[in-house]
Amino acid sequence: MTTQGRKCGTCTACCTVIPIPELSKRANVTCKFVQANQCSIYPNRPKCCRGFFCEWIDGELPEGARPDISGVVIQLNVIADTMVMGAHMWEVHPHALNGRIARRARKKFLAKKLPVVLYPLVGAISVLVPKGTRPLVFDFDQEGRKIETRYV
Ligand code: SF4
Ligand code: SF4
Repeated sequence: MTTQGRKCGTCTACCTVIPIPELSKRANVTCKFVQANQCSIYPNRPKCCRGFFCEWIDGELPEGARPDISGVVIQLNVIADTMVMGAHMWEVHPHALNGRIARRARKKFLAKKLPVVLYPLVGAISVLVPKGTRPLVFDFDQEGRKIETRYV
């Protein structure tokens, strides 16, 4: 993939951390089509893969913050089956959700009144809700993990 002049290169972070029902792939399991740090079926990859662009490839994060380096994949998208737009942040490296890149991005999205969904490697998914906005109610539980909602 390439946009804004950026290329995924050897990053395959989203191919591991994000679940892909079309491929029966669970979260935090590397897709079976990853070979030598690349997608081996790139021209024929599923539609959902074609439509995925992380914030780094979109040029919204610093050059050095490629997800396999920063340890966090960030994407703006609708939250599950709701009509609510939010920032999704998947942890690639342990504790990266507490790192500088993730904290800065979180602050930016919350300042724009966007909820932030955090997917840690271990533990519950949580949704950070900007103060002064209504809490979101979720009726889904992905990968058997409970979802918590909290204000920041
Ligand atoms: S996380 Fe971003 S940079 Fe890495 S492979 Fe996915 S789209 Fe490309
Ligand atoms: S099919 Fe290709 S692009 Fe899609 S998750 Fe697997 S390796 Fe990544």
